[in-house]
Amino acid sequence: MRLLIFLWALPTTLVGVMAAIPWVLSGAKTRIAHGVLEVHGGKIALWFMRRGFAAIALGHVIMGFSASRLEQLRPHEHVHVRQAERWGILFIPAYLLAGLWQKLQGRHMYYDNPFELEAFAMDAKVAETNTRKQV
Ligand SMILES: [Zn+2]
Repeated sequence: MRLLIFLWALPTTLVGVMAAIPWVLSGAKTRIAHGVLEVHGGKIALWFMRRGFAAIALGHVIMGFSASRLEQLRPHEHVHVRQAERWGILFIPAYLLAGLWQKLQGRHMYYDNPFELEAFAMDAKVAETNTRKQV
C-alpha cells in the first residue's frame, strides 16, 4: 500500500526533486528522514529565508533553511506530504487554486489556504503537546 501511495504522489515528488537540484548545486545538504528527502542549507535557502520562507514540501521532498529548522517544521511539512499523498498529481494545482480562491474571496492566499489551515492545526497540536510537557 505504501508503494502505491508513494507512486500516486510521485508526480509532485518529481517536481520536488527538480526544485531540489539547484538547491543541492548551491551547497545544500540532503538526508532521508521520516520517509522523505530533506534538503537544507545552501545559497538558495539563504535567498528564500531572506524573503520570509522557512520550508516547502513537494511530495516526498522537503526543502528548508537548515537541518534544525526542518526538525522544528517537520510536523507542519509532513501534513503537506500527507496532502500530496492524498491528492497525487492534483496536489500542486489544487493547492494553488485553493490559494487563488481565497484571494478572490478577499482573504489571504497562504494563511487562509485550506491546505495551510490543516498544517496550522498540526502546529497548534504540537504547541499544545509541548506546553503540556513543560508543565
Ligand atoms: Zn505549510
